[in-house]
Amino acid sequence: MTLVDTRTPDPKKFISGATGDWEMVLGLEVHAQVTSESKLFSGSSTEFGQPPNNNVSFVDAAMPGMLPVINEECVRQAVRTGLGLKAQINKHSIFDRKNYFYPDQPPGYQISQYLDPIVGEGKVLLDMGEDGEVEIGIERLHLETDAGKLMHDQHPNMSFVDLNRAGVALMEIVSKPDLRSSDEAKAYINKLRTIMRYLGTCDGNMEQGSLRADINVSVRRPGGDFGTRCEIKNVNSMRFAGQAIEYEARRQIDILEDGGVVDQETRLFDPKTGETRSMRSKEDAQDYRYFPEPDLLPLEFDDAFIEGLKAGLPELPDEKRHRFVEELGLTPYDASVLVADRTSADFYEKVADGRDGKLAANWVINELFGRLNKEGLEISTSPVSAEQLGGIVDLISKGDISGKIAKDLFEIVWTEGGDPAKLVEERGMKQVTDTGAIEKMVDEIVAANPDQVAKAQQNPKLMGWFVGQVMKASQGKANPQAVNEILKSKLGL
Ligand code: ADP
Ligand code: MG
Repeated sequence: MTLVDTRTPDPKKFISGATGDWEMVLGLEVHAQVTSESKLFSGSSTEFGQPPNNNVSFVDAAMPGMLPVINEECVRQAVRTGLGLKAQINKHSIFDRKNYFYPDQPPGYQISQYLDPIVGEGKVLLDMGEDGEVEIGIERLHLETDAGKLMHDQHPNMSFVDLNRAGVALMEIVSKPDLRSSDEAKAYINKLRTIMRYLGTCDGNMEQGSLRADINVSVRRPGGDFGTRCEIKNVNSMRFAGQAIEYEARRQIDILEDGGVVDQETRLFDPKTGETRSMRSKEDAQDYRYFPEPDLLPLEFDDAFIEGLKAGLPELPDEKRHRFVEELGLTPYDASVLVADRTSADFYEKVADGRDGKLAANWVINELFGRLNKEGLEISTSPVSAEQLGGIVDLISKGDISGKIAKDLFEIVWTEGGDPAKLVEERGMKQVTDTGAIEKMVDEIVAANPDQVAKAQQNPKLMGWFVGQVMKASQGKANPQAVNEILKSKLGL
């Protein structure tokens, strides 16, 4: 791959060393497990958490004479993902054998794609807050099989193998070396995950191994030539990704500042020590002896196939965010928060339907998300439904309840459930907008506090005290705007 520098060096991201500033350059190879019922080339189930070797067919176990049969759904999922990455879909692609022996890989080779992948160049947009939007190039996406798992902790002097994962479809998504900080790398993994979750092509579950990243790290003088990279294998959490990158960049800077050279090698991150250590150097890099898989035909698509999949795509996070800003009047920040996951975006859209989009966003983000976070709950298990929250927003918009009473009402709906409008009626929570009733309260308070009246007439800021008294007398139900207006005229302010 030819390396092109698409970024302008940003001093905020520089790492200072003993001899001056450095910049890190990162490129990621993300392995995403395809969401599918069965494996890439066999009918075995992909269900997670099954007893060892429950999901193994003769093909997965590489019994002699067994032949792979392509799973069309996995192909559609890869194309959908490519479309979500705004990438080139290759109408002709080829499966290759990547030969290497490992006990968790019965055939002695992985079926992958090498020179002709199913998806070519694309791009991903990252929203980096104050630093604005960053575009990260995608080099390619290819389909390949996963391996099984060795278990070394089951027996004192034997290792076991579980082939449940063997043959499961993976998408390897390779980025260009466009990332310049660990925050960008994390945002990139996150964004890929969000896009694939919207598409339903990968569940993005890092704890279950559905999403892993190989992280290539190099350092250089700001804007200089690309340095020698090290590849940190199989990072399976966002936190580890951050730690591994920071450690590795610093390690390379220390070597270079001591006058040494960075060896191109594959390294492993150890979560216990927070360090990376060498696994193999470029010198012992395997020769995979790639050749076209003789048991499979090349994949050939026509335009109709691609167009059909394109037509079935859901609205993706970037487009949704844009629409929330343009059509519903949200701030870009609020829109980003809401589209970060599809369930939240759908929930918000139900609350906002036919209502004030901004007010709805406030209630979803500040009240609902705030409360869910506090209780460690997900939006999918929210005790307050979109209909109920919409009902609360309606009552505020109509002026039936104030924002403050709305918070009490939210609390009642959260703990007891019920229809917000009915609750407001039954519990007498409706805002008093009847000016006659407010006037009566104001008159009584003014009559009882001649000293305060005199003070307020000297210093109009003291009117706040009266507002407080009226709100107290009305148990918080007086319409604050009406109270202010009536007070002003009664006090002659
Ligand atoms: P390989 O398959 O040998 O790992 P690739 O050419 O496919 O090699 O590149 C793998 C990844 O390494 C890509 O994500 C690419 O962006 C990244 N990369 C290449 N050069 C550098 C570099 N100098 N620094 C950081 N990342 C790099
Ligand atoms: Mg690599």
